Amino acid sequence: MDNRKKRQYDKHSLFSVILPLVLVLFVMVFGGYWATVSVREFYYQQKLQEASLLARDYAFSLSIVVDAKTELDNQMYSTLKVAGAMVAQHKEPFSRDILSDMAENLDVDVIYVYDQDTTITQSSDGKYIGWKAPEGHPVLAFHESKLQYFIEDIRADSESGELYKYGYCRFADNRMVQVGLKASAIFSLYAQFDAQYMIDTITKETPYINLVYLDMVNRVVASSDKDNLSVNIDASRLKLPLQPNTSSRFTWEGKDYLVLRIPITIKGRTAGSLLLFYDLQQEENLIFRLSMIIGATLLAFFLLFTISLLKIYRKNSRMRSIAFHDELTGLTNLRSFFQELSDLRAENLACIAFNPMNFRLLNIIYGYDHGDEVLKTIGTALSDLQTRFPKLQVFKFSDDRFLLLLSDYVSESYLESLLHALLSLKHENRMFASLTFSLGVVESREGRYDASLMVKQASIALNACTVSDPIQFYNTTLEEKLLRIDTIEQDLKHALSEEAGTLRLVYQPIFTIEEGQLVSFEALARMESKTLGPISPLEFIDIAEQRQLIIPLGRRLLSLACDFLSELQHKGNKPIKIAVNISAIQLLDPSFIPSLKTILAAKHVDPHGLELELTESVFAQNLQNVAEQLKDIRRIGIHIAIDDFGTGYSSLSRIEALEIDEVKLDKSFIDKLDNPATEGLIGDIISMAHHIEKPVVAEGVETKRQQTLLIALGCDLLQGYLMGKPMASSEALNLFLGKEAFHASIES
Ligand code: C2E
Ligand code: CA
Ligand code: CA
Repeated sequence: MDNRKKRQYDKHSLFSVILPLVLVLFVMVFGGYWATVSVREFYYQQKLQEASLLARDYAFSLSIVVDAKTELDNQMYSTLKVAGAMVAQHKEPFSRDILSDMAENLDVDVIYVYDQDTTITQSSDGKYIGWKAPEGHPVLAFHESKLQYFIEDIRADSESGELYKYGYCRFADNRMVQVGLKASAIFSLYAQFDAQYMIDTITKETPYINLVYLDMVNRVVASSDKDNLSVNIDASRLKLPLQPNTSSRFTWEGKDYLVLRIPITIKGRTAGSLLLFYDLQQEENLIFRLSMIIGATLLAFFLLFTISLLKIYRKNSRMRSIAFHDELTGLTNLRSFFQELSDLRAENLACIAFNPMNFRLLNIIYGYDHGDEVLKTIGTALSDLQTRFPKLQVFKFSDDRFLLLLSDYVSESYLESLLHALLSLKHENRMFASLTFSLGVVESREGRYDASLMVKQASIALNACTVSDPIQFYNTTLEEKLLRIDTIEQDLKHALSEEAGTLRLVYQPIFTIEEGQLVSFEALARMESKTLGPISPLEFIDIAEQRQLIIPLGRRLLSLACDFLSELQHKGNKPIKIAVNISAIQLLDPSFIPSLKTILAAKHVDPHGLELELTESVFAQNLQNVAEQLKDIRRIGIHIAIDDFGTGYSSLSRIEALEIDEVKLDKSFIDKLDNPATEGLIGDIISMAHHIEKPVVAEGVETKRQQTLLIALGCDLLQGYLMGKPMASSEALNLFLGKEAFHASIES
């Protein structure tokens, strides 16, 4: 994935984290707000209930108090009035004792008797006798009035300064009597029935409550705030409740109050109203604390949620990264390649499959850790090429394969310079010395690209690479070849799975050169493909070797050959041999000899009738191993022939050391017999073989002339179309039993 797409992808997945976060945040903010408002409303309703109960209670008490005070006032009024009248009606001359007795009986504190001149003539406590009321004194005011009685409001006594409530009464002769109640005594009684006193008492006990007692015209009669006394309150301007039994919220000097208006009724008549201010500060504090707790809880929850979401996001990112990257090299992987190609729009595109050819061998020789190091280094080297080729993208494809993408390249020569640079990487690190880099290239100009097709075609091209030809461009022929190989592989598998059928052996006779005596048959494999028709053994044996099918195939062919050999040995009475071709891989397989023995035993075959043909390439392998193996085989009684002799590099001197019984001259020599140089070479080979006592077979003899020349050169045995083509087993049997003529055999 390129960075732009990665960013897009990341943005997309980040969005999937942010969206739920925003949603949860929204729900929590809304929920938190709702919870706080609900709690506040709940408390408000509670306070309202509490406050209205209190207000009703206070209003009731207040109405009683106000009523009681009026009663008290009335009572004092009558006490003073009655006392004054009683003293005024007294006929006897007054003495201190008489007045003092009267004061006690009438329950007043002082009694003063004045003459017509407003001078005190007698008093209940003997004080102030001879005192005369000065100008402006209430005593003088009463004297000058025409009133019979007068009850004064409480005032300080002009002489003693003590507070008194005085009552006056006129005698018939215009003398007068002053009766006084000491205010201190009255006050304590009075106060208990005073609205202000009550309000003070209540608000002292409950500091969160303020009370204001209003009369009918909203003038303050009593209040916890003394500054308001006698003030007329504009309730509507202050947004105070106007109607009786209603409430409102009221803010005063930054404080919140709940205000209730409760009517005060005295003796069934409305005498004003009580305003109860409930200070909500405490509740506000409580609600604030509750809101804080709710907020903190929600915040903690939100943080936890965010953290776990981020953890999930990180984990997902990591998983995504694992899913789109190769663990070993850190390169983007095949999945990324598919993603990249699915939305790539480019004018042209080259997809290059890159493979270090003999990497597996390197892995086996130096170990997997070293192999991993090499792959990592290759990955880095490929990525480093991106500085030179900015449009290049590198992917890890499979175990040891890489994929490179080059899009929108300006010219073929630019692509070629990249391919050249890729091959040259071999020289950049000593680690790569034993490797050959191969490149399978596919080019396209579709505009949009099919990723799996490109991978397939690049792989096909890669498959066709050889050490000498390390760059291959994809073409349909390559694909057809691969397809054919694949079909043959499937056919082989199918042939191996069924008993008799598509896989069979034909037999080519081999004769002695002089008497023309039949000595052996070479078993040659034949396969018929359902779709491709007859397939040459050269092709299907090669595919079987490449696709690890040669062991079971070889075993099957050997078994078929032994079936036929058994038939020959049982039906005829002369010696005969069957030569079976064995591939090098087959011979070197440790299970080869045991399975050979098993087959021989199962088919009741005399091992002396069996010959194994091995090509020279076998001897290119571990000679020691091969020699041991051959010795074991010969010990069983089986003969060994060296096939295609002369095509490889082996020399007779080397073969001498080996356990072999026969040399087969390759057809290519026989074809060139007309050439004197070849003739000489064949002559040398034959005489050297004879020197070590090995008979020589000439293969592919097609003409009489070849036959004649070979006779002259001393060749021992002949095989070829001249003598007989490969034939079906039934024909071969007839030939062996002498029922067929010498040259009549034809391949079926
Ligand atoms: P080969 O072992 O050298 O077999 C001889 C090949 O030469 C056979 O081809 C045979 O048909 C052919 N031949 C014989 N005489 C003449 C002739 O006069 N003229 C011409 N033009 N050809 C002649 P074939 O059967 O196609 O086999 C090709 C090769 O396939 C064999 O070469 C052998 O290497 C391999 N092969 C065949 N059968 C088997 C088998 O059962 N196992 C193994 N491992 N390889 C086999
Ligand atoms: Ca052969
Ligand atoms: Ca041969």
